[in-house]
Amino acid sequence: MSECIFCKIVDGSIPSIKVYEDEHVFAFMDIMPLTKGHTLLIPKKHHENVYDMSSEEAGQLFSVAPKIAEALKASFNPAGLNLLNNNGAPAGQSVFHFHLHFIPRYDQTDGFKASWLTKEKQYTNEMFKEYADKIRENLNK
Ligand code: 5GP
Ligand code: ZN
Repeated sequence: MSECIFCKIVDGSIPSIKVYEDEHVFAFMDIMPLTKGHTLLIPKKHHENVYDMSSEEAGQLFSVAPKIAEALKASFNPAGLNLLNNNGAPAGQSVFHFHLHFIPRYDQTDGFKASWLTKEKQYTNEMFKEYADKIRENLNK
């Protein structure tokens, strides 16, 4: 049996508060919410992170995102909404079954803090072009 906590949520062996379910995905309330309505959307099949998912599986998951976003908007009328996905421990991933956070935003004091310490002075247009060349090269592999 899987040791993955989110696989156990999908198979019902540990409880969760369900928001949505279809053949491919499952959405439920985050047990440690950042804000009111904080919801997680996961694939039913175990995938550790985005690298582990096919385009088709990612499509199945993201095709539900607007529906959940609309429902959160209609339910809580947040001022904004962050969709967040952490891949790998250094990026903040703590549960290693892919999940997309839906974090309704109410104001600047709602508990969500993401600091963007931009470093545009360290990069030149030439560097951006070089990086883009590298990414395109790998996209075509
Ligand atoms: P991560 O840090 O991996 O991006 O997010 C994992 C999220 O899963 C956290 O927000 C955490 O509160 C939530 N979480 C962890 N364990 C459980 C659980 O057993 N049930 C629910 N509903 N959420 C969980
Ligand atoms: Zn899993």
